Amino acid sequence: MWFRSHPWVVALIGLVLEAAATIPFALLDAPETSAALALLIAAAVAFLVGPRWGALVAAAGWALFFVFVVDHAVRALVALPVWLAAAILTGLASDRLRRTERERRRDASELDAVRGDETQAIIGLDLEGNILTWDRGAERIYGHTEADVSDADVSLLGSEEDTAHIQAALERVAKGERVDRSHLRQRGRNGEELLVSMALIPVRDDRGIVAACAVISDGTERVHEAERRYRALVEALPLVTLISAPNDRSTITYVSPQVEQMLGYSPTDWQDDPRLFGKLLHPDDKDEVLARAKRKSSGTAPRKTEYRLLARGGGVVWVREEVATVRGPEGKPLYTQTLLMDIGERKRADEEHERLLSAERDATARTVERQRRLDFVREAGHVLASSTDYRSAIQRVAELAVRDYSDWCVVDVVEDGSPLERVAIARAELLSKKAAAAPDQVPEEAVRKVVETGGLEIVPPLGEASNGRKNGAILSGIDARSAICVPLRAQERTLGALTLARTQSGEAYGADDLALAEDLAGRIALAIDRGRLYRAVEERADAARVVAHVADGVLLVDRRGVVRLWNPAAEAITAIQAGDVLGHSAVDAIPGWNDAMDTIPVSTSPDPGQPEVVIPFETEGGERWISISGVSFYGGTVYAFRDLTEMHHLEEMKADFIATASHELRTPLAAVYGAAQTLLRHDFALDEGGRNRFISLIADESERLGRIVNEILLANQLDAGRLDLGTEPFDSVEVVERVVEATQAYAPAEVSLTVNTGGGLPLVAGDKDKVRQVLVNLVENAIKYSPDGGTIEVGVAAQDSDVRFWVRDEGLGIPEGEEQRIFEKFYRLDPQMSRGVGGTGLGLYICNELVSRMGGRIWVEANGQKGSMFMFELRAAEPALTPEARAEAVELHGFVTRARRVPHR
Ligand code: ADP
Repeated sequence: MWFRSHPWVVALIGLVLEAAATIPFALLDAPETSAALALLIAAAVAFLVGPRWGALVAAAGWALFFVFVVDHAVRALVALPVWLAAAILTGLASDRLRRTERERRRDASELDAVRGDETQAIIGLDLEGNILTWDRGAERIYGHTEADVSDADVSLLGSEEDTAHIQAALERVAKGERVDRSHLRQRGRNGEELLVSMALIPVRDDRGIVAACAVISDGTERVHEAERRYRALVEALPLVTLISAPNDRSTITYVSPQVEQMLGYSPTDWQDDPRLFGKLLHPDDKDEVLARAKRKSSGTAPRKTEYRLLARGGGVVWVREEVATVRGPEGKPLYTQTLLMDIGERKRADEEHERLLSAERDATARTVERQRRLDFVREAGHVLASSTDYRSAIQRVAELAVRDYSDWCVVDVVEDGSPLERVAIARAELLSKKAAAAPDQVPEEAVRKVVETGGLEIVPPLGEASNGRKNGAILSGIDARSAICVPLRAQERTLGALTLARTQSGEAYGADDLALAEDLAGRIALAIDRGRLYRAVEERADAARVVAHVADGVLLVDRRGVVRLWNPAAEAITAIQAGDVLGHSAVDAIPGWNDAMDTIPVSTSPDPGQPEVVIPFETEGGERWISISGVSFYGGTVYAFRDLTEMHHLEEMKADFIATASHELRTPLAAVYGAAQTLLRHDFALDEGGRNRFISLIADESERLGRIVNEILLANQLDAGRLDLGTEPFDSVEVVERVVEATQAYAPAEVSLTVNTGGGLPLVAGDKDKVRQVLVNLVENAIKYSPDGGTIEVGVAAQDSDVRFWVRDEGLGIPEGEEQRIFEKFYRLDPQMSRGVGGTGLGLYICNELVSRMGGRIWVEANGQKGSMFMFELRAAEPALTPEARAEAVELHGFVTRARRVPHR
């Protein structure tokens, strides 16, 4: 209405009317009428355009009334709130009225709209289910007209089951609840099935709930649409969808057409033959799948299984099945939906994956095993290489072998020339102790055969399954399931055998184990060979050392006469260096070899009683005498020779001595014998003087004889070490003077003896008699070897801490180079006594021995142009003192000594 949108126009009109109603009435003096009209006008405005405008007009009307009608009468003020209240209340009442009207109209139009919606039906029902009203929508959905349903109840519309449901719902409606039902299956007039949802709403009047309004929507078309969409969906999926009665696969209501492609049977085939599914189950899976299908599904969660179905062509199809029971709102199972997915591809991929995985596992296991074997072989190799004592190394390797590869490991070895010997037996630690059983200590026949033939033995043979405990064929003493015996071969020779046996653990030995055993055997054989070689080299090195250090010369001449060995002793004896002979022909390299060769005895085997020859050998250092013999062998001849030069000289000297001694002895003997004979025969003819001459001759010669014999005895005593020497300090000067005095008695006239002794000489530590003997010997030699006479000086002097004695002559002298040798036993410068001077060659030897045993030394020097000077020194028994100091010391200590002062001459 226009004035609603223009309220101010209405207010203006109201104001004009107010003025029209008030001002004339003021003249008429009818205030009540004027007030009533103005109030009416304000109420009308409020009614038409609301309380605010009404209040405005009322206020304006009152103002006019106040001014024009009551002429400012104060009591009229009281009326203002009444005017305003009347206008506002009227406005509010009019607003309320209008709103109610609006709502009513909307409700009516909504109802009309609902009624006009032919997809919905509104049916009035009494609480017993009798139909009270029937609208056009109901007519359209069910097909019944209003007349058809008069006097009918809800049973007309559906099955008994549905009717019962509606009746139950009505009972709840009677209690004031609204009840909604969906998926109700109802029947139309023509008997077609209708799928409807129904809302039952209580209808009240002032008596309470008197009826129910059923609002029904027809879902049939929607369901069909949904069904179409569902089919379009499932038929587009890469799987077979199978709808069957709940938990009853034989009542199939729908099978998606993919089934034909999957299994070769069309959907019709499936619906025609309720047992088709059971027939197509793979025999291996059938029982399990059927048993599982019988277990009723309780929940709605799909059950998933995988099994095989047989396709029409006989092929096997792996499927994955997901079964779900679809339930209605009340939990009632509606149908079972089975999804079948062809998982052949996946299965094949799985199988391939599994196959690859297991191949990888196998490969890894093989690699690990190979690595383990490599480690074992390396460790064994290390053990074998680290020692030349192959027996203990083999034992350790056998112990390694029983750690992983066998319960027993036995090694037999053939030593050169000895029978096969069992050198190692090892058993696995984990082996149950029950068996005191162990392999024999003696190699078995089977092992011997392996060593003899060089072939191997494996039980059970490769490729044959273990026949249990039947075979213990290789090692006796234990009950082996499986055993390997391989030869130890090195350098084309069989050195023994390695045997591995399993009594408890593992499987029968296979080709891998055999290869491992052969590898190990090869290493053991090499170790044995190396050990033996090492031993041989050691022996050879020992032999070489012996040859290098033996005192005998060793010469090896090969079959071609070439020198192959020339040891250091040979070098020392012959003064020929090894480098000059080795590799050269012996005849060329060794002087005189050609002649000597034939005389050297050569035997074919070393023989302690083998004869030797002593032959002269010219060397740079002079002639050497060597004793030599030889032993021939396949590769040549070994000669051993010894330097007998010294012995040869000694022999010569002995011979000379015997000749000289016999001569020396014979001369005085002959003299004694001649004198004795003369006395016997001519005693009567001899005067006193003559007799005495002969008797003193006998005495002299006997004494000479005695001296010679004494010399020989003394030399013998010295040789035997049976001579005791005194150590009493003595006065050297006294000894020298005595010797000179004694010698002078028998010295020839052309020899003059002098004494030369210094003063203040210390006492000498030594044996006085032996010192005298040495001096006598030297003086006698000086006389003896001064055939032309001359002066012989005998002297003594202090020399540092020693006392030196000397005998100087002017005789024959000692040729250069002989100064040492004259002190040797039996050595004489003129053994043939061409100069007519006899002797035993023992005198100087005895002197040298005596002096050196007293701790001194003796030597000879040339005496200027002529003769020689023999000297010897002995230790002083005390330090040398001046004569005065010495006398003082004697006096001071009252010391009685045999020392005496010897005046200078
Ligand atoms: P023999 O009994 O021959 O004298 P010796 O041992 O006393 O034995 O002497 C060894 C050799 O030394 C003597 O044969 C001699 O040739 C030589 N000889 C020893 N003393 C002298 C000397 N004073 N003058 C020269 N030659 C000497």
